[in-house]
Amino acid sequence: MENDGRQTVLIVDDSLLICNQIRLALKEEDINICEAHTGQEAVEQIKQHQPDLILLDVVLPDADGYELYGTLKEADQKNAVIIFLTSKSSDEDVVRGFSVGACDYIKKPFVKAELQSRIHAHLLQKKQKDELDRQNRELRNSMEKLNYMAYRDGLTGLYNRRYVVGDLLEDMRSCGKEAVETVFAMVDIDDFKRVNDTYGHDAGDMALVCIANILESNCREHRVVRWGGEEFLIILFNVTVDEAFDICERIRRQVEQFVVPYGKEWFSCTITLGLHVFKPHEALEECISCADKALYYGKRNGKNQGVWFEDL
Ligand code: GH3
Ligand code: MG
Ligand code: MG
Repeated sequence: MENDGRQTVLIVDDSLLICNQIRLALKEEDINICEAHTGQEAVEQIKQHQPDLILLDVVLPDADGYELYGTLKEADQKNAVIIFLTSKSSDEDVVRGFSVGACDYIKKPFVKAELQSRIHAHLLQKKQKDELDRQNRELRNSMEKLNYMAYRDGLTGLYNRRYVVGDLLEDMRSCGKEAVETVFAMVDIDDFKRVNDTYGHDAGDMALVCIANILESNCREHRVVRWGGEEFLIILFNVTVDEAFDICERIRRQVEQFVVPYGKEWFSCTITLGLHVFKPHEALEECISCADKALYYGKRNGKNQGVWFEDL
């Protein structure tokens, strides 16, 4: 019944007479009402109905309302407003009620009009707060989506350049270990202009997506960025120099062997990679520029190979 859009009030009181009086007082409200006559029942009702507001008696056959409060809160997933409605009316009782976390304290015998207006006000506030929470959640979801999209390339789904400027340094710091390196590899598809010229731009796009997938599937613990056009930047975290080269060689061979379907025909591509070990004192641009230099050395010297900047 809690899915009909109406708010739900749970009355926890062992006296059926009081329960009825409260029901009567609340009959003008467009709400669902449920009842519990013991602490145990209250927990079950909360789990079942997740009420918005709970009217809680203190003297119950199996529990003390003040102590029960914490148990009810644990079962409550809707951040219910809990109000004590009790004949325990000394100042200390009231203070105790508020100090365990109650939102309000109403003394029995209650004045009908006062009970009505207090509950009405609490329900209204709860509705507004729920709506605000819902809007906040929606906003947070949209921000997460926007943030995701801002860092992604539309064609391949890979990270884009903004990631390098934005989060890369933080990611490098958070997974940095000693005795291993961060290696940057700049990757460029060989003679890609010819692919476009021969098979058309759509076939070129298809090749880009296939190659992006190969890079991504070999770099699950690393980062692949579409740097621009047919260029990719791979950042290999926590690798030795040998491991980095092995990963790059594996990628290079897989790309070389991959068959890109084109109508009834097929073609394949090769890539050249420029590798550089990141030095802590280096700026990102410097590091990327070193990987770039190694890449162009590879391009001038036959393509389809990985070249270390450190070997130039
Ligand atoms: P090299 O081996 O020296 O890298 O030669 P190349 O032909 O790959 O390099 P060049 O820079 O001359 O040409 C790159 C081509 O990549 C030209 C451009 O049209 C194409 N390209 C860039 N981005 C895209 C894209 O998103 N889709 C397609 N289909 N082609 C793209
Ligand atoms: Mg190229
Ligand atoms: Mg290029």
